[in-house]
Amino acid sequence: MKVDVAILGAGAAGMFVALAAGARGLRVAVFEPQFEKANNLAISGGLFPAAGSALQIAAGIQDSPEVWLEDLRRFAPGMVNERIAESVAHALPEATAFLMRSDAAAFRFLPDMVAPGHSCRRFHSVDPASGAALHAWFRRALEAAPGIDVLPYRAQVERASGTFVLCSEQAQLEAVQVVLAGGGFGGHRGLVARFIPGMGEALHNGSATNDGSVLQIGLQWGAQVWGMDGYQGQGHTNPGGATRLGMSIPSLGGVMVNREGLRFVAEDIGPSALAPYVLAQSGGVALEVFDAAIESQLGNHWAYQQAVAAGCVMTAQSVEALATHAGIDAAALTATLEQARACAEGMHDPLGRRRFARVLTAPFKASWVTGALSHTQGGLLTDVNGAVIGANEQPLGGIFAAGGCAAGLSGRGAEGYLPGNGLAQAFGLGWRVSQALG
Ligand SMILES: Cc1cc2nc3c(=O)[nH]c(=O)nc-3n(C[C@H](O)[C@H](O)[C@H](O)COP(=O)(O)OP(=O)(O)OC[C@H]3O[C@@H](n4cnc5c(N)ncnc54)[C@H](O)[C@@H]3O)c2cc1C
Repeated sequence: MKVDVAILGAGAAGMFVALAAGARGLRVAVFEPQFEKANNLAISGGLFPAAGSALQIAAGIQDSPEVWLEDLRRFAPGMVNERIAESVAHALPEATAFLMRSDAAAFRFLPDMVAPGHSCRRFHSVDPASGAALHAWFRRALEAAPGIDVLPYRAQVERASGTFVLCSEQAQLEAVQVVLAGGGFGGHRGLVARFIPGMGEALHNGSATNDGSVLQIGLQWGAQVWGMDGYQGQGHTNPGGATRLGMSIPSLGGVMVNREGLRFVAEDIGPSALAPYVLAQSGGVALEVFDAAIESQLGNHWAYQQAVAAGCVMTAQSVEALATHAGIDAAALTATLEQARACAEGMHDPLGRRRFARVLTAPFKASWVTGALSHTQGGLLTDVNGAVIGANEQPLGGIFAAGGCAAGLSGRGAEGYLPGNGLAQAFGLGWRVSQALG
């Protein structure tokens, strides 16, 4: 069998590219050896930004790819992968329009999704807004699409002159082009220890399917890499990693204290940058404190609802009761919340946080969290269309990459990850790849 394009990986990037390339009439084969496992798309919050999408405009929000790029540059100064960020920013409205053309009823703008670092509301998803539901939508769409074969195998790929041969025990096929879409390397301890030494021992709350195997294929072919120390951290992860609170609580007014009852960071720096700060506290944990009024705004927040269902959120009628419940010194917690109240009323925050959205009042809510590594951001260097670049700065020829195995939108540690960068790159660069394939 001969196809126009073989895609390695059926996650966010691979499935998006398959659908969009298939819609152009290309013959596509997708290799996915771990269909039974939840990949990062399925684990994710399923929230993607698309500044200037038709859905966002219809919601009456003034935004544009340029404004989003400015947000990204302000959030991650000196760390932005400019070439890819610009390409992705301008591709996202088109990528979202493609999804709408595929199934207008499924996709929606999320008017209640506040995200640290974003100057306006610009997140989209399906209903319910979750990675699991988005993943299920892509699976259904892939199965229904004509001209796309999904092969549940791991393939060996060989480059022959002008073509690629993909072999597994079950099948062999020839492809004119290959798209590397196997995710990052967060599930490979050795690679994490090598490229992000500070997180070598940290909890990984992403999917083990992100084993770096597709990244390594690109490296064997001589690809360059970019930003290998960049990662999405998660400072709102419940200990153990099965659930998390989501990114919005600090923006809505929540605070975080350590076991001593003291605040230690400007909590709204973003969920990713928070991770190392939380890990630096005693026991590597912090208590995220908010109230019932904030919780009432989290009804559509899937990650938070999962944490509640798992019993990770406590309720207390007073600060003293909360301190007792959490095992924290009551006087210290009271003083800390008093200080937060004063900040909400205009006092300068010694930790530099600019906005406290509200004064917390009883009944209080709280949850223990730790810092985790969610997914890696560094990967194969590509041009604006996702063509993989080799050592001589030239495209390798017929090889494309998108998603976690390709270089992300920003690098250097956890602090450069603006919420939504992951799916933004998977769909935005994925759109560029799908249009560049011949
Ligand atoms: C906890 C968590 C929350 C997140 N929340 C968000 C969010 O709300 N918004 C956002 O923008 N981003 C979020 N992300 C990031 C987002 O999930 C990723 O950026 C995105 O899924 C990357 O897409 P991908 O296709 O590269 O990887 P994946 O979606 O993980 O898919 C990769 C696929 O490749 C397959 N594969 C691996 N090796 C091979 C191989 N050798 N051959 C063939 N196939 C292979 C895997 O089995 C997998 O199915 C989150 C991530 C995590 C972990």
